[in-house]
Amino acid sequence: MMESMSIADVHGRPLRNLRLSVTDRCNLRCQYCMPEADYLWLPREDLLQFEEIEQLVDHFLDLGVEKVRLTGGEPLLRRDLPDLVARLAPRTRIRDLAMTTNGVLLAGAAADLKRAGLHRVTVSLDTLRHDRFQQLARVAELERVRRGLDVAAEVFPGFKMDTVVIRGKNDDEMVDLLEFAGERGAELRFIEYMDVGGATHWSLSQVVPRAEMLARLSAHYGPITPIESDRSAPADRFRLPDGRVFGIVASTTAPFCEDCDRSRLTADGLWYLCLYAARGIDLRGPLRGGASPATLRELLTGVWHARTDRGAENRLATRERSPLIPIAALKRDPHLEMHTRGG
Ligand code: SAM
Ligand code: SF4
Ligand code: SF4
Repeated sequence: MMESMSIADVHGRPLRNLRLSVTDRCNLRCQYCMPEADYLWLPREDLLQFEEIEQLVDHFLDLGVEKVRLTGGEPLLRRDLPDLVARLAPRTRIRDLAMTTNGVLLAGAAADLKRAGLHRVTVSLDTLRHDRFQQLARVAELERVRRGLDVAAEVFPGFKMDTVVIRGKNDDEMVDLLEFAGERGAELRFIEYMDVGGATHWSLSQVVPRAEMLARLSAHYGPITPIESDRSAPADRFRLPDGRVFGIVASTTAPFCEDCDRSRLTADGLWYLCLYAARGIDLRGPLRGGASPATLRELLTGVWHARTDRGAENRLATRERSPLIPIAALKRDPHLEMHTRGG
């Protein structure tokens, strides 16, 4: 094992964070992510095997990655996921090994994942109402998600919850969701609705900006205090008067591109330097083609050194904002989708 080094991109941003998508498939159809009825899936033979994921992760660790997050699609749909966790967990250079899930299959999987060495989970939940869940996620699975959250509270105490806030859809549930998270000892993060790949119905008028979220929460709870946090963390954290902490990810109105140290690997081995990047770098090809470790490391280093991406900032500067990618283009290339890139 070589010593980790730290590499920086054109804007001096290190590579610390890897979001590892293990499948592009999902058992929900959230309107803001997978609004279509049918999708073109990645060919199964293209999906990276666990050994291949391990090899690539080792290269990333050599270059300074210390946080790895399993995601998808829905990561719990990947067969034998605890096996992958058990393979990755012994790598001590992974300071933080986490997973983001929609929670549907979590109740049955949490204990195995914990045993395998997963450090943390984040569960996405946008509403506590059955009719809305059915409307937003288009599958009636709220009950199973709630069971998953109850199990997460026991197995992964202090877990996180993520809520995408959409005006007119669930913005009136912010307080209820905070209370629900608090009862389970979870830290809730509100996420501004983003105009990424699958968000083909996105409009700026549906985004509830961070400032408005704070104003609405203070109107209910009283004065809210910001907490100093790590600049590269996507969420700004805040404290309610009763001491409870929550976060806001203002990716649309106040993007954190300046300090962005993350990149994404799709389940078929394309490396994306930004959520908004038009293209990914093929790592599966060289890996399966027998590229030497030195060649792969050179490829990764060269690509990161040349990275200039500031996707969300560029979108913010766009005057006439509409959904990022037309549906016809999405249908031609699944890699443009948020559910393929892992969010
Ligand atoms: N299926 C898992 C889940 O939902 O937690 C993991 C993958 S999902 C793509 C990762 C995260 O991206 C979720 O928290 C989801 O809410 C978020 N996301 C998807 N589309 C989004 C959008 N248009 N704006 C903001 N967040 C979005
Ligand atoms: Fe599936 Fe997650 Fe996308 Fe919802 S946000 S459709 S759960 S991948
Ligand atoms: Fe990083 Fe791109 Fe997101 Fe900006 S838009 S924070 S550069 S992933």
